[in-house]
Amino acid sequence: MMNISQLVLASHNAGKLKELQAMLGDRVHLRSVGEFSRVEPEETGLSFVENAILKARNAARLSGLPALADDSGLAVDYLGGAPGIYSARYADGQGDAANNAKLLAALEGVAEAERGAQFVCVLALVRHADDPLPILCEGLWHGRILPAASGTNGFGYDPLFWVPERSCSSAELSPAEKNLLSHRARAMALLRQRLGIE
Ligand code: IMP
Repeated sequence: MMNISQLVLASHNAGKLKELQAMLGDRVHLRSVGEFSRVEPEETGLSFVENAILKARNAARLSGLPALADDSGLAVDYLGGAPGIYSARYADGQGDAANNAKLLAALEGVAEAERGAQFVCVLALVRHADDPLPILCEGLWHGRILPAASGTNGFGYDPLFWVPERSCSSAELSPAEKNLLSHRARAMALLRQRLGIE
């Protein structure tokens, strides 16, 4: 168990900080890396793990504090795990609607049984910038890509992601329900265990 009272989150997104803080509980205070620098590192890794570690190290280097980073996306079985780490910019930065349209086109005519996919979230925690033993927690959320969008909650690929355990799309879940089931929730539950704050 590790005694950490504050962590710098390697994200400039206030919404993400709030969501992760709620999942982490109040024993560890999350601060934004934006307090220390506006410069974001290039995500040059080929995997969620590599990019999460890279972002965590950068935040620890900038702040001099232990740091946490998350990297997430959608991995579609039929597409060999694409869009994967490129999920946010799958349609070359044209946004969520274009990303979803591109995904639907890539799966045009593909049978339901072959449309398996998972949302992935990797959390990386480093105690300092050169930490040789980052804590890594992976959360997977298994589902299927729908043939058409459904639902208006959430963001990103939520309208295309069928959630078998609820028989609806993830954009049809309430935010509270999604936060119980999601890849981020699963990764964060593991991190709480590793930090001894269960
Ligand atoms: P980020 O880790 O927040 O930058 O997310 C990367 C990208 O993965 C997002 O821009 C979305 O396209 C996708 N993604 C990650 N998590 C979710 C989710 O919970 N719902 C829908 N899309 C997601």
